[in-house]
Amino acid sequence: MSRGLLSAAKRHLKRSVIQGTLEAIALSHADRFLTSAAGRGAIFTLHHVRPERGFEFEPNRHLSVTPEFLDQAIGVALGCGLQPVGLEELPALLSDSSDQRKFVCFTLDDGYRDNAEYAAPVFRKHRVPYTIFITPGFVERTRTMWWETIEALVRKTNFVLFDFGSGPEQVQCTSLAEKWTAFERLAEFVQVGDEDEAVARIDLAAQRCRVDPMQIVEDEIMTADELRRLLLDPLAQLGAHTLTHPNLARVSSERLYREISGSAARIADYCDRIPKALSYPYGGRNAVGVRETNAASERGFTVGVTTQPGILNSVKLKTFAQLPRISLNGNYQRKRYVRALASGLPFKFI
Ligand SMILES: [Zn+2]
Repeated sequence: MSRGLLSAAKRHLKRSVIQGTLEAIALSHADRFLTSAAGRGAIFTLHHVRPERGFEFEPNRHLSVTPEFLDQAIGVALGCGLQPVGLEELPALLSDSSDQRKFVCFTLDDGYRDNAEYAAPVFRKHRVPYTIFITPGFVERTRTMWWETIEALVRKTNFVLFDFGSGPEQVQCTSLAEKWTAFERLAEFVQVGDEDEAVARIDLAAQRCRVDPMQIVEDEIMTADELRRLLLDPLAQLGAHTLTHPNLARVSSERLYREISGSAARIADYCDRIPKALSYPYGGRNAVGVRETNAASERGFTVGVTTQPGILNSVKLKTFAQLPRISLNGNYQRKRYVRALASGLPFKFI
């Protein structure tokens, strides 16, 4: 099997397993009542909130949900009896053993402009607070978003000239399978090599194909002025997402502190308050460890969120610096899946 077909088969299998599990829980109605498996509630993660774009090749589709799905998801969470609260309120609420309510927090990573255009009105409709995690390097147009750059580049072109470390190579991306393989190879290059160097090389490859990586940031990320306007809404709050969005587990200690403290200081400039919540970029087990959570706590953050799936469980919570979140995934936009996810049951199986 070719590399492209193999990765397509793996992707398909993984999606089928997740979808099958969610369907099984939804069909069994095991999630009808939020039982002890639902713990003390959940934190949901979103990225883009915007209408479907209809691209055939959209490798970042999982990072994008429609405003209609967000509306349904909030409705389901509230219908399950979850109490919506701001993320920064969670530590105090979960530490109170006399309080057995279940909570829900909504968070959005990266600061996409569509959050203000499409998500804010939905949150306002339901009077639900939300936290947007901001990377000042994006806001101030000094850092590009490699995952968006690669998607735009590979969608547009039939081949990319790229040096993975053993000299320039022509990476084919004519067919859909080739585009997926090219995306995955380039994304992996960022994750295993020096991230700054990899981002610079991807930017250069994109520019050669007349894809402007900084224009993508300009088109998609809110400016400081836009953030200030959004914050006129008392439901909106900003959190920190580092200065340049690196995998923190792979940077020096000095840079780790600079990334988290520096982002808090810059964001304080946008919103006149120092954020107390941090979202670790990428947020997986390979991006957040003890060193990173200790650094966040030492630098005054009272809440740290990962992308590791799970519900809030005050019994198991050792620290608020490494809270799990449930991704509202663009590939699984079904109302019945939200209830299944909030029940906590999928995390016993997936
Ligand atoms: Zn991010």
